[in-house]
Amino acid sequence: MVTNSVVPGTVSADARIFCIGRNYAEHAAELANPLPAAPVIFMKPPSSLVRAGQPIHFPHHGQELHHEVELVVKIGRAGRVGALDQALSYVAGISLGLDLTLRDLQQQLKQKGLPWEVAKAFDQSAPIGEFVACDASIDLGDIAFRCSVNGVQRQAGNSRDMIFPVARLLVELSRIWTLQPGDLLFTGTPAGVGPLRIGDRVEIASDPIGSFAWSIVA
Ligand code: ZN
Repeated sequence: MVTNSVVPGTVSADARIFCIGRNYAEHAAELANPLPAAPVIFMKPPSSLVRAGQPIHFPHHGQELHHEVELVVKIGRAGRVGALDQALSYVAGISLGLDLTLRDLQQQLKQKGLPWEVAKAFDQSAPIGEFVACDASIDLGDIAFRCSVNGVQRQAGNSRDMIFPVARLLVELSRIWTLQPGDLLFTGTPAGVGPLRIGDRVEIASDPIGSFAWSIVA
């Protein structure tokens, strides 16, 4: 484990943002997707990031904006993870984020077999909380987290239910990319995704990490 006590809250402008789709069985089922045999990987640009407390402007190129709360891992050192038992030494910090998704647009793209960027990688599509150091008190395999909208809980999940746990995800990513310090990994969302509307306040929280909120504006 990287044991630096303070993980910088700022996200570097050249950080890659890796995201995993369909990493919880109940979420795959709610969208009628088959369980993946290997991680479903996509990316968002750094311009997707929006810090807690900032307003999120509704993306008007679609209609159905969905929240997806996810555990987010920040990479602390460069390299390729060769084995599962090395993987967690690459993790510097953890936080929570939202993989905001224009579901109507994504469904159209999926049906046509087209890339997902316009549905998932638009401006402000990756609200991100503050990072806490991933020290020995953190068990990446047992982190409960939740999402509420206007005070009503919509999603509750636990990292133990991931189809591909964090260590496996880092090994899979390393087969394709050399990890860099500051890279972020959104690890997939549990069931309960649903719509956000203008005027809504969305809050994501986890006891070991913290609580972060955003308002959706026109
Ligand atoms: Zn997601």
